[in-house]
Amino acid sequence: MTALLQAEGLTKHYRVARPRLLAPRPVLRAVEDVSFEIAEGETFGLVGESGSGKSTTARLVLRLVPATAGRVEYRGRSVLDLPPKDFRPLRREMQMVFQDPAGSLNPSYRVRDLIEEPMIVHGTPATAAERRERVGALLAQVGLDPSHAARWPHEFSGGQRQRIGIARALAVEARLLVADEPVSALDVSVQAQILNLMRTLKDRHGLSYLFIAHDLAVVKHMSDRVAVMYLGRIVEQAPRAEIWRRPAHPYTRMLLEAVPRAKVPDQRAAAAPPGEIPSPVAPPPGCAFHPRCPARMAICSQHAPVAKEIAPGHLAACHLY
Ligand code: SF4
Repeated sequence: MTALLQAEGLTKHYRVARPRLLAPRPVLRAVEDVSFEIAEGETFGLVGESGSGKSTTARLVLRLVPATAGRVEYRGRSVLDLPPKDFRPLRREMQMVFQDPAGSLNPSYRVRDLIEEPMIVHGTPATAAERRERVGALLAQVGLDPSHAARWPHEFSGGQRQRIGIARALAVEARLLVADEPVSALDVSVQAQILNLMRTLKDRHGLSYLFIAHDLAVVKHMSDRVAVMYLGRIVEQAPRAEIWRRPAHPYTRMLLEAVPRAKVPDQRAAAAPPGEIPSPVAPPPGCAFHPRCPARMAICSQHAPVAKEIAPGHLAACHLY
């Protein structure tokens, strides 16, 4: 497996407001010691409840927020400490698809300008004629009519706007798309269409995806390998089939039990796992999942488990193993 992207020990802490005057500012541990790799042509799914650190992990990888600790290598180059001018050519290859297509598209830009903008920023293609031709080709690739390039974002449906967001991400020949909940804001009827479009584009362009979702059904549809996050940490990581056949971590099992059995992913039909995710400002001692875990033991509240390889390519951080 040739790694396109490697993250090692990624950590992000934020200082939050003091609870009272003169008290020290508490630390919010959004992401804690997260490590994973994404191979060329692979879709790596990151799943977990809201507040588990998935989106912050995505932003760390793209340098949209500075890391507290850890390393990210993209095609063998350490990206977190590169000067901006050296990072820019790599950043061109690493593009983001956002959750909310309405909020991520500037409403005062026509569609052609939205898709052309990253080409102008990165200087490729160089001429206006080539860029306009590419806008038309990209619109066709994402299933939109190239003659609609002069329209405004509000003239499109939510699914169509997400197609525009994907065309924009592909405008500068990305190799890695970081997709943060790309279908969770869409109607159920169009979710599968967008997921299938992303799979088609991946095959056509040899893309790799870091694919983030809170719904395992959506991640299952898309991913080659899956990592499960809980309270800022990866608690289990394995090939997709292994996660579904032999889920090891009690949290993964809890998430799987909440997945609806319908064929079409329907995030609103999923039952929430029982209990609530604790505050990342005051995580429980030992294994952070122990207050919700049906399999907890005495050791679980005292010592944090270390991730172990329990089968080839299958890692779990749990005292059961
Ligand atoms: Fe449950 Fe203990 Fe495993 Fe944590 S370490 S998931 S509390 S069994």
